[in-house]
Amino acid sequence: MITTRYNFQNEPFIIAGPCSAESREQLEEVAAGLSEMPEVKAFRAGIWKPRTRPNGFEGVGLEGLQWLQEIKIQYKLPLIVEVAHPEHIDACLKAGIDMLWIGARTTGNPFSVQELSEALKGVDIPVFVKNPPTPDVKLWIGALERFLHMGVHELTAIHRGFHTFDNKPYRNAPLWEIPIELKRVMPQIPIICDPSHISGIPDYIASVSQKALDLEMQGLMIEVHPNPRKALTDAKQQLNILQFRQLMSMLVFRSVCTEKPDHLEELRASIDELDDEFLRILSRRFQVITEMGILKRDQNLTILQLDRWNTLLNDRLQKGTDLGIDSRFILRLLEIIHDESIRLQEEVMNRKGE
Ligand code: PEP
Ligand code: MN
Repeated sequence: MITTRYNFQNEPFIIAGPCSAESREQLEEVAAGLSEMPEVKAFRAGIWKPRTRPNGFEGVGLEGLQWLQEIKIQYKLPLIVEVAHPEHIDACLKAGIDMLWIGARTTGNPFSVQELSEALKGVDIPVFVKNPPTPDVKLWIGALERFLHMGVHELTAIHRGFHTFDNKPYRNAPLWEIPIELKRVMPQIPIICDPSHISGIPDYIASVSQKALDLEMQGLMIEVHPNPRKALTDAKQQLNILQFRQLMSMLVFRSVCTEKPDHLEELRASIDELDDEFLRILSRRFQVITEMGILKRDQNLTILQLDRWNTLLNDRLQKGTDLGIDSRFILRLLEIIHDESIRLQEEVMNRKGE
């Protein structure tokens, strides 16, 4: 009897395997390599593939489930498969698949999620839900809620990155603030990371994986193929078995400390004080902004004064970088503050005649 090893208590939950099942031999080659690694808790393989355009390889279908059953018996690896239709769920349950995952495109469609969650009512199987392709945390939360409402209690979220206007250098931008927000809103749901679909190429997989672990994510789902260049799907991002083994030996699995060292508390106290000061300064800055708004309104001046904005931006970027702060961060921060300043001055303009 193979346990699902669905347990997030002591070690990261590592899922590995090919993007798609392609042949019995391909699955066997990966499974043989992975089964020797105690870190690997489950074997993944896509049987039905959601492809962006039609007429490509769309998965091997039911035959692949038969191969997976044999792999499970031979290599003692619990299995996880992507499902997108209730018929996929039925076929997986018949084939003894241990866990299911919901792909990003499916999560993005509440009709599909509703249908799948209804099909899982009363079924005792762990379900992993990828984030939707768009950076919409509510859609992700909504999908998880639909499964919870149908009684799926072994539920995990998978962070696989988002499609944004500028994903560079990633295939899907990680936007770490979104899984952090999910964790805040649904602390009971474990989150694991899929660095393969975030990175798009092997180069960033190690850094994305380490960052996910350092952000207290509870596991990883990584695509591994015996010969990635020949893969029928996601050829650019899959690791070969050796690369995967190297990755596992490089990653640092830090513990989530429940007993906080004294010094950490001291440092946290300093952060609290600095944040208080920062908020007081921001509030003073916005008061001055409002006074300027009144002046601009009374003198009939536009809110945006481009020369001033350019000068301010260059000055703060220079000063910030001199202080060792990352220039991209300063730019983002100034843009957010400027946006709020414009909003405040708009409010003043709209109060004209009061
Ligand atoms: C996959 O895991 O192979 C897959 C299709 O991923 P996603 O749903 O994240 O695009
Ligand atoms: Mn893939």
